[in-house]
Amino acid sequence: MTSQPLVAITGASSGIGAAAAQAFSAAGHPLLLMARRAGRMADLDLPDTRVAEVDVTDAAAVRDAVAAAEAAYGPVDLLVNNAGVMPLSPVVDQPEADIKMLFDVNCVALLTTAQAVLPGMRERGRGTVMNIGSIAGKNLYPDHTVYCGTKYAVHAMTEGMRRENAAHGVRVVLVAPGQVETELLSTTRSADIVAGYLDYRDSIGGGLQASDVAEAMLYAYQLPQHVCVRELVLAPTSQD
Ligand code: NDP
Repeated sequence: MTSQPLVAITGASSGIGAAAAQAFSAAGHPLLLMARRAGRMADLDLPDTRVAEVDVTDAAAVRDAVAAAEAAYGPVDLLVNNAGVMPLSPVVDQPEADIKMLFDVNCVALLTTAQAVLPGMRERGRGTVMNIGSIAGKNLYPDHTVYCGTKYAVHAMTEGMRRENAAHGVRVVLVAPGQVETELLSTTRSADIVAGYLDYRDSIGGGLQASDVAEAMLYAYQLPQHVCVRELVLAPTSQD
């Protein structure tokens, strides 16, 4: 049994979430991994890990997964609120279902998942919630209007949550990456938009690796509890 506290990660079946799972596991933490593709999380084959096949928009399922993992490994000390989708489109013809999914996954679920761990953290007077925003939460890009809207909201809500929880000893951290090479474009339907996005990525020599982001997250978490990195913005050096 590991002596490090439990780390819960949403969207751990690919990209940044999977890389974070590997990094925090290598640092000795037991893990709760949550996403819909359970097989992908099981394939990571990490020790002291509970895999929960959960849609993060199902707040009750998230709460149940957290309770079961805490019964096995003790309280969650870090929540990485990472699950996200990016169906890019101009608003004029963006399907309503995609607009709702963007807000439900990127914003509402981020809040309800935090609600599953915050009361315990406040009671213990310690803990960290790390919300994954984006440089698309600081800048606007073509065809990103709704995605940017969700990430601007994540940035505002993260700072609000930080202020609400500071006096309780709980850190709330924003991680805002630039381009990272993951599966995030998989929900974008337009081949032209995908091609334009990838052309730009190629023009800057490629995106960050998910492991680059995971390393920065581990750094922010491993600082002493009285040090709160409020905002971590990292992007490929050549990204404008
Ligand atoms: P991926 O597509 O590789 O990962 C997204 C993860 O979110 C998957 O594990 C997916 O799991 C999960 N997810 C999506 N919808 C749900 C849902 N309803 N319930 C549970 N899990 C869900 O992309 P990234 O790793 O890039 O994305 C991770 C985060 O990083 C996102 O918040 C994204 O906005 C952010 N980000 C990414 C950047 C990039 O350039 N890649 C840049 C800046 C921020 P599953 O499908 O199995 O449910």
